[in-house]
Amino acid sequence: RAREAARFTAARPRTQAALQAGAAPWLNGVPMHWMRDWPSPFPLVVAEAKGARLTDIDGHVLDDFCLGDTGSMFGHAPPAVARAIRAQAGRGLTYMLPSEAALKAGALMTERFGPFLWQVTLSATDANRHALRIARAITGRRRVLVFNGCYHGTLEDTMVELSNGRTVPRQGLVGQGFDLTEGAVCVEFNDLDAVEAALAQGDVAAILTEPVMTNSCMVLPEPGFLEGLRALADRHGALLIIDETHTQSSGLGGYTRVHGLKPDLFVIGKCVAGGMPTALWGMTEAVAARFRAYDAARAPGHSGMGTTLAGNPMQFACLAATLEEVATEAAFARMDAGAQRLVDGLSRAIAAAGLPWHAIRVGARVEFICAPGPLRNGTEAAEAHHPVVESVVHLGLLNRGCLIAPFHNMMLVSPVTTRRQIDRLVAAFTDIVTDLKDD
Ligand code: PLP
Repeated sequence: RAREAARFTAARPRTQAALQAGAAPWLNGVPMHWMRDWPSPFPLVVAEAKGARLTDIDGHVLDDFCLGDTGSMFGHAPPAVARAIRAQAGRGLTYMLPSEAALKAGALMTERFGPFLWQVTLSATDANRHALRIARAITGRRRVLVFNGCYHGTLEDTMVELSNGRTVPRQGLVGQGFDLTEGAVCVEFNDLDAVEAALAQGDVAAILTEPVMTNSCMVLPEPGFLEGLRALADRHGALLIIDETHTQSSGLGGYTRVHGLKPDLFVIGKCVAGGMPTALWGMTEAVAARFRAYDAARAPGHSGMGTTLAGNPMQFACLAATLEEVATEAAFARMDAGAQRLVDGLSRAIAAAGLPWHAIRVGARVEFICAPGPLRNGTEAAEAHHPVVESVVHLGLLNRGCLIAPFHNMMLVSPVTTRRQIDRLVAAFTDIVTDLKDD
C-alpha cells in the first residue's frame, strides 16, 4: 500500500499544491466530507470530466468507472443534457411554478417506470424521506422496516443496523437528537421469516428496500424474496417502497420493470436526470387516493415536506433530455454488453490468481467482492469487506489510470465506456490481484 501511495503522491505535485492553497476555508480541507473518503493519500482535484473519462489537474486522464457513484452513470454531461442546460439557462433557473418541460417529463417518467403519480426532489435522500412520510400518514403507523446494511441516503429513520438480533442506531452517526430505533426496525435481507415477525409486531408503515442491496457489497434477492415482501406487506397492511436509486442500472425502467415488481411507492435519483441533482418519488393511484383522503381531512398548515429549489425547470429539462435521448434502450444494451465483458474479465483474473473472491453484475453495475459468493445478507456483506486489501486495489487501479467507486468496490459501465477502457481496467485489475496473491 505504501508503494502505491508513494506513486500516487509523486505523480501529483500540482494537486498537492492546489489542495494546500485552497483547503483553509473548508472544514477538513474539502467542501464535502466524502471527498476525503478515498483510499488515496489526498483526493484527486478534477480539471474536467467528459463521457467516461476524468482528467485531474496534474493532467492524468482516468477511465472513470465510478461515474460519481451512479450520479453520472450515463457518462459525464451527456451532450443532450448539456444542450438542455444551455437552452434552459436562457429561460431561467428556478420559478416555483411548473414549466412545459416539467409536464413533459412527468409523462416520460410514467412511460418509463410505470403508472405512478410523481413528485420531485433534489436528492434521493429527500425522495425516500417523502415517500416514507406518505406511508406513515396514510397507514397511521410509525415504523419503517429496513434491511441490515442498507443505505437510502442520510435519512435518519433508516440509519439503524442489527446487533445481536436487535435494531440499534448505526455506529458512527454524528449528532443524533432522538432515538432512531423508535421509528425503524431492522432485519436481514432474504429472511422472510424475520420480515414476517417484525410486521407481526405491528406499527410498520412501510418496508423500504432496494431490490438488490448495493450499498455494502451487492446482495441479490433469492428467488421469491421480493414477491414474498409484496405478499407480507399486503397481509400486514404495510406499504412497499422500492428504492431504485442504484438498481436503475438493471435496464430500461429499472429492476422494477425488468422483473415486474409491484411497489406502492417508487424512488429514483442520482443519474435519472443525467447528473443534474434530481430525484423522484411516485405512488400508485391507490396510494394517491388514500393520501388525498388523508390530505383533505388534515389540519391546515405546512405539510413539512418539500424544499424551495426542488422542482426547478432545469431539473425537468435535464430529466426529459435524459429519458428521451440518453437512457435509451440502445444505451442500456451497450451498458449491459460492456458490463458483461467487465465481469467476465474480473472473474477470469480472480480465478487465475486463485483468490477466494468473486465478481458480480446487475445490469451496468459490477463489483468485485473479497469473499466467495453469493452473499445472502448485510452481515455477510459486511464480513466480505477487507479495507486494507481493497484500498490496495483501488490505489493500484488509480495508479494504472482507472477510477472505481471506493465505497463498495463498484464499477459502472456507461453507454460511452469503450471496450478498450474495459479491457484496460481488466488488465490493471489482473496485474494487481496477481501481485496481491504473490505477496
Ligand atoms: N438510495 C440509495 C439506494 C442510495 O444508494 C443512495 C445514495 O447512495 C441514496 C438513496 C441517497 O442518494 P442521495 O445521496 O443522492 O440523496
